[in-house]
Amino acid sequence: MTDTFFKALKTLYNDMDKTWDKIAAGYNFICNGCKDNCCTSLFFHHTYIEKDYLCHGFNKLDQDQKKTILTRADIYVKKTFSENLKTKALKIICPANENGQCLLYSFRPMICRLHGLPHELCKPGAEPIKGPGCDAGLFDEKSYIKFDRTPFYKQMAQIEMKFRQDFNKTDKIKETIAQMLI
Ligand code: SF4
Repeated sequence: MTDTFFKALKTLYNDMDKTWDKIAAGYNFICNGCKDNCCTSLFFHHTYIEKDYLCHGFNKLDQDQKKTILTRADIYVKKTFSENLKTKALKIICPANENGQCLLYSFRPMICRLHGLPHELCKPGAEPIKGPGCDAGLFDEKSYIKFDRTPFYKQMAQIEMKFRQDFNKTDKIKETIAQMLI
């Protein structure tokens, strides 16, 4: 049954990737990695469907890769979430990142895909909420190219809602990649 959900998710991810590439090209921006690697940002993910898909990708890796990622994930979680439950954004590299490359690239969640470019999010009756791009893009020096994340968030919410109904997931989820994998 997850196949139908994975198919819908892959279609959505493709749309996101294409839009991202088009807008990045408009800025002449190429992500070559940088010292502020976004894979060191403390991102939380909020969808069960993306967690399932990420774990699906993880299960395709060979045993050695899985073991290495899980060891790194364990360290990541221990360092980031201390016993007194205080969360520390320590700029630790994501456990799925190896030598600058994402080992789960095709399965990475929405936030990993949309990061980097200046964007906006529109809520009914409110001014769009704007977000800056990453420092490496020097976007402050360039004219803004409209990148509205709203349709992507809405479509993701629809897939997630149906997934939760079908799999009886009632709790909220807020997890890092490391937490999703262990
Ligand atoms: S899943 Fe991949 S793209 Fe996302 S933070 Fe981890 S290494 Fe980076």
